[in-house]
Amino acid sequence: MTTEADTALPTPKDSVRRAAPAERRAALALLIRAARSEIGLLRAAVPWLVLAALLEALGPMLGKAFIDRHLLPRDGQLLPIAGLLGGAWLASCAASWLRYLQLLNLAGLAMRSVQRIRERVYGHVLRLPMAYFDRAIIGQIVSRVTNDTEAVKTLYVQVMFVLLDSLIMLVGMVAAMAWLDWRLMLIVALLIPAVAGIVWIYQRLSAPAVARSRAARSEINAQAAESIAGMAAIQASVAEGRFRERFAAVNQAHYRARQDELRANAWLLRPALDFLNVAMIGAVIAAFGLRQHGGALGAAEVGVLYAFVSYIARVVEPLIQITMQFSQLQQAVVAAARVNTLLDEAEVPSAAAGSGVSEGRICVRALNFGYLPGRTVLHDVSLDIEPGRFIGIVGHTGSGKSTLLSLLLRFYEAPPGSLFIDGVAPAEMGDEAFRRAVGLVPQDPFLLAASARENIAMGRPLDASAIEIAARAAGAHALIERLPQGYETPLGEGGARLAVGEKQLIALARALAGRPRILLLDEATSHIDSETEGVVQRALLALHGQVTVLAVAHRLSTIREADEIVVFHHGRIVERGTHAQLMDIADGRYQRLVLLQQLESDENP
Ligand code: ATP
Ligand code: MG
Repeated sequence: MTTEADTALPTPKDSVRRAAPAERRAALALLIRAARSEIGLLRAAVPWLVLAALLEALGPMLGKAFIDRHLLPRDGQLLPIAGLLGGAWLASCAASWLRYLQLLNLAGLAMRSVQRIRERVYGHVLRLPMAYFDRAIIGQIVSRVTNDTEAVKTLYVQVMFVLLDSLIMLVGMVAAMAWLDWRLMLIVALLIPAVAGIVWIYQRLSAPAVARSRAARSEINAQAAESIAGMAAIQASVAEGRFRERFAAVNQAHYRARQDELRANAWLLRPALDFLNVAMIGAVIAAFGLRQHGGALGAAEVGVLYAFVSYIARVVEPLIQITMQFSQLQQAVVAAARVNTLLDEAEVPSAAAGSGVSEGRICVRALNFGYLPGRTVLHDVSLDIEPGRFIGIVGHTGSGKSTLLSLLLRFYEAPPGSLFIDGVAPAEMGDEAFRRAVGLVPQDPFLLAASARENIAMGRPLDASAIEIAARAAGAHALIERLPQGYETPLGEGGARLAVGEKQLIALARALAGRPRILLLDEATSHIDSETEGVVQRALLALHGQVTVLAVAHRLSTIREADEIVVFHHGRIVERGTHAQLMDIADGRYQRLVLLQQLESDENP
């Protein structure tokens, strides 16, 4: 594909390739994972498919009887003729009906299994550690949950229905031919290697095209998702044209791949297999003629010829079916393997039981931490925070403030022995209890495409008054009341209808509604006006003595009243004390920060 070279914009993409043996094993593992509970249904379908194949085989047999017993002797007996024709018709109808029922059955099974796989994949993604999302591409994860699981359905329907049914049909037809005339059957069977050859060539031609078209589709998804998420950045940098071109390029690649795929079908599959059909019939007729030449032809054999011609058509059809599905199957295997790989990603270890947070005492001991090996972000950080205290954290961008909060939230794992809450390592606490006890107002609050009420409740069973109390405490009540439908106003995806400061207030209300023992604020006041900041400040002071508050703030006025202010610099704590104490340090870092901010606010009052 040429998209990247054409536009020089990076695009996330899934690799284009054929399934490797390991992937086949992974795909199989996934199928077994999902279908285990429904294996009974599959087993129940087999006898019905066998019966359908037998009925299907019966038709030409009856035709043969009609030709040999009635047509050639010209006996004109109406009743047996009607019986034979009616029988053939009924057998054919019954076979179709049975297969239709089994198809429904197995398609149902496939869809249920896909539903289960999808739920599992999504549930799994929800439990992946935050570190996973540092390196994951959103569009690709979305593709795993939607497209790839859908491809797994193809695998089910193909493997379980088309392959199963075609194989049973094939065996049935060959068996019927052997029963009628095994030598003629051998001639037909000799052509099977030729079919294998055609399948092989078809594979070579179409599998790469199918792989390319799937990869292009996944890329189309990823690009659309990415550009919608980043619309503001695209429009602001007038990049619409480039994005349109990039999208058009991948779209064109998709079109070309689909065309190659269709071409392989149109030029190779149908004509080649039709040719084979004719060749088989020709071979059977030739063998027949040779035998007649030898004077061995009896009247009975004309019926056999008729039956063989009918059977050959029916043998070729399942072969075409199997061949046509082959490339799809390859890709479905790749998709299933990807889903399986995602499912194999380690989840955050979950502890249903375990102690909760009762007091909110935080103890950090000689903590060293880095996201990537060899790049330490926090150096030898030690902090003892008594329950109910209000601690301010300040420091330059990139000094590790958010990182400390992430560790307290268990988004990343702190080295053993370096972090304790109420004397217990966070990893040893019960999940539910822990999350309930620790509230967060993140630097970049995320709002759901739901009402203000739902955004504060976040699925927790909270009544209207609890939500309003939390909103008032956070200073968000007035703002919500101003919205057209109050607490029921939809906030738009990601809270697009709100200003960032307003989002911060809603996020604060969300955290307070959980009645946390520990409240972590990451720049919760960076985007609100001074008046609203006063509300938040009062809210934080009201929590004094009850909730341990760690507030990261660029805006120093927010934490002026804190019991202790901790100053970070390049991942180390360089100063700590109350506002007054820190202001007394001559040429201290905190003092400089405060003076700098005063200067700024004097310039832009
Ligand atoms: P700011 O005031 O800008 O929010 P901060 O003090 O919160 O800064 P952190 O977000 O803790 O800074 O980042 C500390 C360092 O860790 C930075 O150098 C940053 O590049 C790095 N870092 C942060 N998150 C990750 C991550 N997920 N993977 C790798 N490195 C990271
Ligand atoms: Mg930060």
